[in-house]
Amino acid sequence: MGRTGHHLTGLAAGLLVAAAGWHALGPSALTAVPFGWSGGSAPDWLEIAHAEFLSPRQKWVRVSVIPHRTITHWWPLWLVPALLVTVWPVHVPAVHLFASTTLAIGGVLRMALAGFSAGGVMHLLMDVPNPTGIPILTPMARSRWSLRWWKSGNALEPLAGLAMAGVACAILWLVVNPQGW
Ligand SMILES: [Zn+2]
Repeated sequence: MGRTGHHLTGLAAGLLVAAAGWHALGPSALTAVPFGWSGGSAPDWLEIAHAEFLSPRQKWVRVSVIPHRTITHWWPLWLVPALLVTVWPVHVPAVHLFASTTLAIGGVLRMALAGFSAGGVMHLLMDVPNPTGIPILTPMARSRWSLRWWKSGNALEPLAGLAMAGVACAILWLVVNPQGW
């Protein structure tokens, strides 16, 4: 999946996390939304890639410090933090900023981590339909899981991402305004 599609599907993941955390945390749950957006493309940008011109082939190629779709695309590294942050029984420490303002730092951090890791899990799911797929057994595994449905960068990807973000937005809206219908 291309960058735009990853951001939009990550945004959808962040919106769903915010909807899940809304009852416990209120507006602080919205912290998950921007973190979902950035987590959605994180497996790609964590590879620290740049374009390099290869003169023999006369074209620009993507070169990354971490080989593409290996370690950063290994599912346990995203799924484990996502599950931990969901089930871990944390006491939410509150910090008094001013006499009248109390900020539940723990809740905000938890939402940030939940949004980011959910965005990452979503990224891996979105890479599965591409021919390259993602590694399953080990980060460097040659045997990969791929559905081979379509090629990365497909024009429909951003539209599908937009649709998912729209649905997630509607779900969050319903959670925030249960009487709105
Ligand atoms: Zn990727």
